Amino acid sequence: MLARIVREYTGVVARAVSLVAIVLMWTVFGTGAEVSQVEAQQGPSGSIAGSLRLAASGFGPVPTNTILPPDTLERIAKRIRQERWSLPPDAKEWPFEAGTPVVKTTRVDELWHTVEPGQTLRRLRLMYKVSNYQLRKLNPDINLRDLDAGQRILVWKRNPEKIAKSYGAAHWGRLYNAEPLPDDEKYVILYPHRTFGTYYTVSEVKRVLDNYYEKYPDAHKLMVGDISFRRGRSMHPHKSHRSGRDIDISYPRHEPPPNYRRFHYVRRSNLDVKKTLSLMKDLLDGGYVEYVFMDRWFQKLLREEALAQGATQEWVEKVFQYPDYSGGTAIIRHSPGHRNHFHVRFTCQPTDRRCE
Ligand SMILES: [Zn+2]
Repeated sequence: MLARIVREYTGVVARAVSLVAIVLMWTVFGTGAEVSQVEAQQGPSGSIAGSLRLAASGFGPVPTNTILPPDTLERIAKRIRQERWSLPPDAKEWPFEAGTPVVKTTRVDELWHTVEPGQTLRRLRLMYKVSNYQLRKLNPDINLRDLDAGQRILVWKRNPEKIAKSYGAAHWGRLYNAEPLPDDEKYVILYPHRTFGTYYTVSEVKRVLDNYYEKYPDAHKLMVGDISFRRGRSMHPHKSHRSGRDIDISYPRHEPPPNYRRFHYVRRSNLDVKKTLSLMKDLLDGGYVEYVFMDRWFQKLLREEALAQGATQEWVEKVFQYPDYSGGTAIIRHSPGHRNHFHVRFTCQPTDRRCE
């Protein structure tokens, strides 16, 4: 009975909160319209502008209801005004309607680890880069010195006051207040302790993966490899992956992989070109991608597919480095070792520090 009342009450509160949020949003945007014109003149930053131009060049629209704000509504307003779109001064033309979800991504507030046989407290500490003190605070009722296989340990909890952001470059930086990529039955996270990222990386990857499975519900599971450790820094065997802005993902393929424990080499005939192109397009349309590293021969296939689907020559030249092996300004570039996964580097965001 009590539980039911609590549940009902929570529902009402949640509805009230979302209503207030919508009203607040309009207020924020309403008062910000003038500012947006001024900021619009400054123009968006390089890579995002590039991406918008790609999207505007005829090969697919920019999705309009997938804004990825950091936590506060003020920041949502600031972010879309400054970077993603120049909002037209007339509110009626803004790409939102009341009640449209602003954030399409799901986030997790907690990360639990199931203890495997032989795993000690020390091992967990090293894996998740947490201290004894932090683990004790997260798990006050558990005797951490005596762990049993199968036991669930809380290894990370969201601090709602803080945003996951990077510091420095991908090859020397680190990560603050990192958040883990949410788990999902639709894809496989190979090593949960190695998939911590910035707010933007995690939200954007989640958005793109969700879209992918919405579009292709019967697709094989993709495998998500490394992003970064909870505090970033060096991650063997990578040179980058240190600041929460890099991620490795397996390719969509026709035949399922032999197993879901690691990346597997993909033959060209086995690459699902349509699905891979769709993934890439969604990533690029998001406007947060700096580079994708992908085998040159896969680029060739995607490029042909894009042209067949009506992409302009201008679009494919901006997107694919192919036929070149190196150099140029294309977003999708060749780099050896990317036949079993592709690597995405996300751009620096206003929340990041000394990002390069
Ligand atoms: Zn990588």
